[in-house]
Amino acid sequence: MRALIIGGGLLGLTTAYFLRQHGLEVTVVDREPGPGRATSFANGGMLHASLANPWNEPGVFWHAFKMLGREDAPLLVRMKALPSLLGWGLTFVRHSQPARYLRNFEKNVHLARYSLALMQEFRAVLGTDYDYAGRGTLKLFRSAAPFAAAQVMSQQLGTWGVPYEVLSGAAAVALEPALTPIESAITGGLYFPADESGDAQRFCELLTAHCRAQGVRFEFGLQVQRLLRRGTRIEGVLGSQGLMTADAYVLAAGSYATPLAHAVGVAVPVRPVKGYSLTLDTGDWPGRPSRPVIDDALHAAVCPLGNRLRVAGTAEFAGFDLRLTPARLNNLFDLVTQLYPSIAPHLDRQRAARWCGLRPMSADGVGIMGRTPVTNLYLNTGHGPLGWTMAAGAGRLVADDIAGKPTELNLEAYQLARFG
Ligand SMILES: Cc1cc2nc3c(=O)[nH]c(=O)nc-3n(C[C@H](O)[C@H](O)[C@H](O)COP(=O)(O)OP(=O)(O)OC[C@H]3O[C@@H](n4cnc5c(N)ncnc54)[C@H](O)[C@@H]3O)c2cc1C
Repeated sequence: MRALIIGGGLLGLTTAYFLRQHGLEVTVVDREPGPGRATSFANGGMLHASLANPWNEPGVFWHAFKMLGREDAPLLVRMKALPSLLGWGLTFVRHSQPARYLRNFEKNVHLARYSLALMQEFRAVLGTDYDYAGRGTLKLFRSAAPFAAAQVMSQQLGTWGVPYEVLSGAAAVALEPALTPIESAITGGLYFPADESGDAQRFCELLTAHCRAQGVRFEFGLQVQRLLRRGTRIEGVLGSQGLMTADAYVLAAGSYATPLAHAVGVAVPVRPVKGYSLTLDTGDWPGRPSRPVIDDALHAAVCPLGNRLRVAGTAEFAGFDLRLTPARLNNLFDLVTQLYPSIAPHLDRQRAARWCGLRPMSADGVGIMGRTPVTNLYLNTGHGPLGWTMAAGAGRLVADDIAGKPTELNLEAYQLARFG
């Protein structure tokens, strides 16, 4: 059986790995010159079941409404993106209803835990040379109410098997001494020891090399123009280098899965949500942070990757626009200096690597995997802000399904058909 995967990011590559393990002939195509060059390039670096809550939490509509038009808001909706968000946005808001939110949260946690367990298999095969660290995630709170709310959420996570510890401000600083200058501002912290971190793009490189050695074919620099549908099947893919055929097709093209699927009559409720990151060289900073920290009040995530620091955040609905907006990047510089004031003498703004990417966000906050109404077309997209966390598990589930093997989690809960 031959499988063609469109997309050489985290989700396409993990799917390729497991399909090859099942003995399929696998080809991965991507328009970029190498693996992990789009959204999987410079993300926050964190694999965290602790942050598996969908973004459409109860009250999200008013929260977003209050931020409308504020250039420094963590969530920004650009007017030009509004038309493409209408139907999707309604579904997004509908899923913020508490019972639905909780159900989706639980689905994400199960997939995240499954995925983190599978990452051990990847490390056994690929090694840890992707700036892997298994030092958990520390969440910080600067006032009592959000800290209390987060503890309630953590209890919920605990019932689903995610371990955590509640910390005083002093205990949080003991865990991450780089926070000492802001100790008086910290109300408390939550520590999630099972979370891990690593450089997603480096992981993609290692995985590609391994898959290639196992016989997976890679076609980089190949733009897929359209899928060719006849009746209920895809009979080929028209790309920049002609026609390609296979028995099964996997759309793992991130946010671009939506227009590609739309052209063959499959509606995929995934829209791009732009996010930014900075990568800072911390080589000469002796007190540099040692573990990933999320500052709840600042909406900042800062993750050490070897001797670099990745600062990621902000969400912007701006369609497929990939321009870097200086104001959004300046927010990230401000956030990291507020969190770690002692970085200031070591922060070389000119040398910081600036990046943005499009999170493929599904309308209910859960990735979309597996079958579609077109019998040999499968999806692996929509993992939004959690694609690094979910990649291993999602790749395995989709590959198992295509190969006709039983899946460890009930794939129906993650399939496109759930949107009705
Ligand atoms: C700022 C930011 C921070 C983040 N932080 C985290 C984090 O800390 N933890 C976490 O779990 N997740 C995080 N994420 C989310 C995560 O990075 C994404 O969910 C994940 O990278 C998506 O992977 P993907 O394979 O679906 O998409 P992509 O990596 O975008 O891969 C899709 C591929 O398809 C290719 N493609 C698209 N269209 C075509 C076409 N027509 N022809 C050929 N090729 C095509 C693209 O070139 C691309 O390589 C973050 C995202 C952002 C933006």
